Amino acid sequence: MKDCLFCRILAGEIPSQKVYEDDLTYAFRDIHPMAPVHVLVVPRTHVTSLNEVNQLPAGVLEACLKSAAHVAEAEGIGESGWRLVSNCGSDACQSVPHLHFHVLGGRKMEDSMA
Ligand code: AMP
Repeated sequence: MKDCLFCRILAGEIPSQKVYEDDLTYAFRDIHPMAPVHVLVVPRTHVTSLNEVNQLPAGVLEACLKSAAHVAEAEGIGESGWRLVSNCGSDACQSVPHLHFHVLGGRKMEDSMA
């Protein structure tokens, strides 16, 4: 998708701070971090959100979750705890229409998720 921000990051057209990558996923630091650790995990395959999860090739969603767990461990928050968030659609304030997961940690999260 040539006009998708995260596809352009995946293509190396827009710079990003890589944290981890594998064949199916790419993880990079959020440009406006909301926590001491705030990393985005994106599938290399473009789908807009979890609404289109059925369009992902087999194994990609699992790879995203494994990538997130790997990032948490590598960032030193595996033991202390972390949160995985995927905003889906306008009520959830999704701003980039390429499926992504926020890995958040490094401080005590709010009790309320919403
Ligand atoms: P969401 O609002 O759930 O769609 O999350 C999109 C996230 O992408 C936000 O947290 C933004 O701060 C982040 N973001 C936008 N542009 C960039 C960029 N060029 N590099 C890294 N993160 C970005």
